[in-house]
Amino acid sequence: MPQINRIAIITGGAQGIGKSITKAFLEKGWTAVIADTDREAGEETAREFDTLGTITFIQTDVSEEKQVERLVEKTILLFGRIDALINNAGISINKPLTTLTIEEWNRVLGTNLTGIFLCAKHSCSHLQRVGGCIINIASTRAFMSEACTEAYSASKGGVVALTHALAVSLGSGIRVNCISPGWIETGLWKKKSRRITPALSAEDHLQHPAGRVGTPEDISSLVLYLVSTEASFLTGSNLIADGGMTRKMMYS
Ligand code: NAD
Repeated sequence: MPQINRIAIITGGAQGIGKSITKAFLEKGWTAVIADTDREAGEETAREFDTLGTITFIQTDVSEEKQVERLVEKTILLFGRIDALINNAGISINKPLTTLTIEEWNRVLGTNLTGIFLCAKHSCSHLQRVGGCIINIASTRAFMSEACTEAYSASKGGVVALTHALAVSLGSGIRVNCISPGWIETGLWKKKSRRITPALSAEDHLQHPAGRVGTPEDISSLVLYLVSTEASFLTGSNLIADGGMTRKMMYS
């Protein structure tokens, strides 16, 4: 039987956790479409992973509806199908409430939350056709906060809620799940011009019940699980991957 060529769109797939997700799909024989605003990072990652399989970079700002429409059209034109949409693109602007501007608030919500709505809206008919999956990357910030993170926390709380709303609306044809990472060290997964060697202390690691800070691979392995048939009973769920930090009492 001929092997089906499965296609994944990974938003923010040029760097950080998204780059690790891109690599994981390629290693499993999928075709990866990176949708990212950063041309330098997108082209660099496409070149770096070229030998792993078929990979394409389509420069896209997920908060802009016309660009998302173009991303989906171009993916269908190139590959004919979409099997997985990984909504990973995200930004944070952490500032005191009284100095956070409406433009900054809208930029964070536009990328982290509206971007998922737009990508789901324009790809769902294609995903439906092949029984595909949507996976949204939220954050443990959806459930717990540090000061001055209103826009980011609100956007990620929205991602968790949007996940179950989409799961119910899209029904049995498309499974929709969400992963909420905790602290994930991404320094080595940035584009070359921004790459940094992580300088994590023993305390950084040991404050986690799991004994260590997370890695991008901790998240990409969960993404692969969620798109697999082993996860066929999961939809509308949120998997927390934080080394136990949100389960830990913090009294001093
Ligand atoms: P990152 O900054 O390393 O990478 C994000 C990528 O998204 C970049 O390549 C960037 O160019 C791209 N991007 C930004 N805005 C975009 C837009 N409007 N359209 C398309 N692409 C855009 O980030 P990361 O740390 O790897 O985070 C990835 C996701 O995981 C985000 O949603 C983030 O909120 C979430 N997350 C990260 C952590 C962590 O500790 N790193 C923890 C919890 C959740």
